[in-house]
Amino acid sequence: MFDSPIWLAISHHALIAVAAAVCLFGTWVGMRHFARARATVGPMHYGWVFMASLGTGAALWAAIFISILSQAPLLDNGFEMAPAALSLLIAIITCAIGFEIGSNKSLTLAPEIGGLIVGAGILAMHYVGLNAWHVAGIVTWSWFGIGANLIFGLGLGALSVSRANRPVTKYCRHGAAIVMTFAVCVMHYTMVASHDVVPDAAIVLSPNLVPGHTLAIFVTGAVLLVIGSGFSSYIIDLRQRTEAAERIHQLSFNDTMTGLPNRIAFNEKLSFDVSDAHEKAHKLAAFSIDIDGFKDINDVFGHAVGDLVLIQAAERMRLAMHDGEFLARQSGDEFLALQMSGNMPHTAREMAERIAATLNEPFGVRDKSVKLTASIGYSIFPTDTPEKDQLLSNAKLAMYRGKTTQRGTITKYDHKMDETARDRRTLLRDLHDAVKNGELELHYQLQTSLADGSIRGSEALMRWRHPTRGLVSPADFIPLAEESELIIPMGEWALRRACADMAAGSLPGVVAVNLSPVQFRQNDLAETIHSILIATGVSPSRLEVEVTESTMMDDQNGALHTLRRLKAMGIAIAMDDFGTGYSSLATLHAFPFDKIKLDQSFVRKIPLDASAMAIVRTILALGKSLGVPVLAEGIETDDQLKFLADEGCKEGQGYLMAKPVPLDKLAGAAAGFNLRATGLASVDTPSSSRSRITVGAAQLR
Ligand code: C2E
Ligand code: MG
Ligand code: MG
Repeated sequence: MFDSPIWLAISHHALIAVAAAVCLFGTWVGMRHFARARATVGPMHYGWVFMASLGTGAALWAAIFISILSQAPLLDNGFEMAPAALSLLIAIITCAIGFEIGSNKSLTLAPEIGGLIVGAGILAMHYVGLNAWHVAGIVTWSWFGIGANLIFGLGLGALSVSRANRPVTKYCRHGAAIVMTFAVCVMHYTMVASHDVVPDAAIVLSPNLVPGHTLAIFVTGAVLLVIGSGFSSYIIDLRQRTEAAERIHQLSFNDTMTGLPNRIAFNEKLSFDVSDAHEKAHKLAAFSIDIDGFKDINDVFGHAVGDLVLIQAAERMRLAMHDGEFLARQSGDEFLALQMSGNMPHTAREMAERIAATLNEPFGVRDKSVKLTASIGYSIFPTDTPEKDQLLSNAKLAMYRGKTTQRGTITKYDHKMDETARDRRTLLRDLHDAVKNGELELHYQLQTSLADGSIRGSEALMRWRHPTRGLVSPADFIPLAEESELIIPMGEWALRRACADMAAGSLPGVVAVNLSPVQFRQNDLAETIHSILIATGVSPSRLEVEVTESTMMDDQNGALHTLRRLKAMGIAIAMDDFGTGYSSLATLHAFPFDKIKLDQSFVRKIPLDASAMAIVRTILALGKSLGVPVLAEGIETDDQLKFLADEGCKEGQGYLMAKPVPLDKLAGAAAGFNLRATGLASVDTPSSSRSRITVGAAQLR
């Protein structure tokens, strides 16, 4: 009965089903290990790659040998052990290479290339395996079948690893195992279709061959190995998860004030959730929640009320959390949250809105009603970043961006917008070290008389020699320094440096130092400057400070008070960038400046822009009627120089005459300027100009 064709067909297909089941289970286990391999680095990563390739390789090998065993059971057949063992080795090694390449994050097509290697490995294993099989018959092959076998093997291998590596849904990991199993079945049937065995009594098999039932024992061993590895990794996983959950639980209540998990617990949870999201192809949103203007609440109502508001706010947010959401307190009025969601990032916004809504209701604290808003930023893993550490910093960047535009907004991380902010923050961090590491320098740009070409002095301009970025422009670092108030020590350093350079006799005439409006917030600015002059022994008459209109806008009375004290000491005060502010005239009226510095934006437009030229004329006339000399900034061409000199502008500063240079190059700059004095001579300068400039340059040497 077992010889009947129907029974043979049934047993053949049943064995193929067993092969498919072994393959499905083995590759499923292998893909789980592969997912771990992709989420880890270092020795752990290689450990998981080994486990993944051992499981997948053994399962594929067992499946293919079961499919070979299912063929021609009636014919005398047997197996050569060496090629059979070699095919197992090929399976494991090619899987290891394929998985290692497939998990490479820096190569775009890494999963597909890795998959092709796995596919090629399956094919090689298949053919080496078939080579181990000897049958008492003549085997003929069809090239068409072998071609189909090749295409399916490689294509499905690539698809399988690609699915595991680029999961779109949580089913992709299972999809990878299904594709791999499908590949093995397709290869089996194309192989069956592509060869034909004709029994031949004349063929006598070698007695050294291992019979099919002995090989079946090895195959069963391989299957048990696969099951064993799957089971043991499941146990390890379960243990790790319980341990992680226990650790999070233990750390969870460290914030004594609000009872919420603290920052350390949040980090643990973040690591745990990232690997979970990775494995399940879920999305994980991280939130940074910052209560707006909390400092005011503390200032107005006192810290005790502030603490009570925080406790209530934390409790409200905690109650608003749903399943799969986690809330922690970072510090002060900053909270952090996580949300695991299937595949719907829009639920992140919904959660942020929910949190915002709970805070918008007024808080009743000790007969006082306090209203709060929060700025919330969020970022989603792995869409915004595949890196765990980047996720939270993305959320924070988004939160800061939202907060600066309008308080109480919900902002999603945006790569383009937030990367500029990230860059600024790194630059700011480096700026903190710049002063103490001695990375700041002063360059000097000569200021000259336009009437006779003599050197009047120079302007000290700060430069930052960044260890990796090179020379950073003040346009990039001064605003950062002002925001962070780092400009206070930096500005003081500049004053000290300029005075020391003057005292050393290396600078001609008056030296102008820029002062930031932020420096004026310090009530003792005049004393600081006074003490620098005393310490360096420089006469106040050689120092000029340049202030901009915004200095007067911030706190007019305070600024005026400081300016008057400086002027009383004998320090000259110049109004910088004149004409660009909102109320330049009012500023001029408020204080008797010693010099007006005409902004370079007007000078740049000479001689093509008639209205800019009209403004320049007006400002020059204004200076004349107030008795305040005007210095034109940014003179770059002879035309500009001629126009300004003709219109009676007293002084000038610009690349045409001299660029800002380090102190040791200033003598050279003066000499270069000397050569250009011919340009000035053509502007009807007195004949003495040349000799005066030479004197200026000689002074420097
Ligand atoms: P500012 O005080 O108006 O300085 C003049 C700026 O014009 C300098 O730019 C100078 O290099 C540039 N400049 C001079 N001549 C020409 C020219 O012919 N063509 C062009 N295109 N530009 C010219 P820099 O050195 O980049 O400084 C930019 C600004 O940074 C300064 O404008 C000043 O507001 C600020 N700054 C520089 N050093 C300091 C400092 O020590 N303290 C403070 N608070 N601000 C500083
Ligand atoms: Mg200036
Ligand atoms: Mg200026």
